[in-house]
Amino acid sequence: MSWLNIRGKMYHCLKCSEIVKVEYKGGACLTQIGDNRLYEQTALTKRYGQPTANPNTEGYYLHNEIICEPCFKKRYMKSGQHDVAMNMEALCNRLSGIKDKYAENVGRATEAAFNNWLENISHGNLREISTSAFDKTIGLKIFKLRNKRKDLVGQFVSSAKDSIIASILNQINSDPCLRDATRQYASEAQPIVDSIRKLLTNLKGKFFHKGEIFRVHRINLPENLNDYVLYEMTTRTPATSTPDITVFYQTNMRKKDITEFLNSCDSSNQVEMDEDKLIGKLKKRLEALASI
Ligand SMILES: [Zn+2]
Repeated sequence: MSWLNIRGKMYHCLKCSEIVKVEYKGGACLTQIGDNRLYEQTALTKRYGQPTANPNTEGYYLHNEIICEPCFKKRYMKSGQHDVAMNMEALCNRLSGIKDKYAENVGRATEAAFNNWLENISHGNLREISTSAFDKTIGLKIFKLRNKRKDLVGQFVSSAKDSIIASILNQINSDPCLRDATRQYASEAQPIVDSIRKLLTNLKGKFFHKGEIFRVHRINLPENLNDYVLYEMTTRTPATSTPDITVFYQTNMRKKDITEFLNSCDSSNQVEMDEDKLIGKLKKRLEALASI
């Protein structure tokens, strides 16, 4: 079940001998940290030991390897890493929030734009998408026969699928309501995208090749100790007497990951289409389309 009887946490600076010990409110108590953290803590306990004689009953201290603030400032202030650590996570979270906030709006506008296109589709439009596929299927006289239509529509869609998708995208992207929805998103997201890009630009080259992007953490704040779930049994709060100290964690995050995230936040990438769903709707509509 991946529970551990936890009473506190010890932060070990990797660059100096500084150790900061934090006691959790409520003392030793079972906390669900997840299997991965349990393995990690078992290994770290081998390295650092436990301060209590009998941690199973008295409670374990989690070990965290960090860089303390004085060491971090000494090493990373000039390279732009300090600014990144202090701001990047909050900015990325804000951007994610904006993306989520507008996703529903943009999704609704996308669907409306598609339905509008579908409603107004004509034989002429279909022929423009792919003349050769059209002439061999929907354009045939036998398309008038109800029992032939389903097959012919199927053939048309499968042989012209790429052009159909491209045409749908083209049409819905020029829909005024959808444009409005993405423009609203962009106006809110763009300033944050710009701030993140500025942080990345100011990073000195040799650091991002190593992928050294750090996260900041204040040791007196409540913390979710589980990577996968979040509820009261995974979260612990440091005792009120805990000093307000900032520490830095190295992350696996690389400049490339942030750039990819920024690309996914670009306003041109907010229109998402479920192609299979759209194609399904299109087929139904074509089967019902009045014959020539
Ligand atoms: Zn240090």
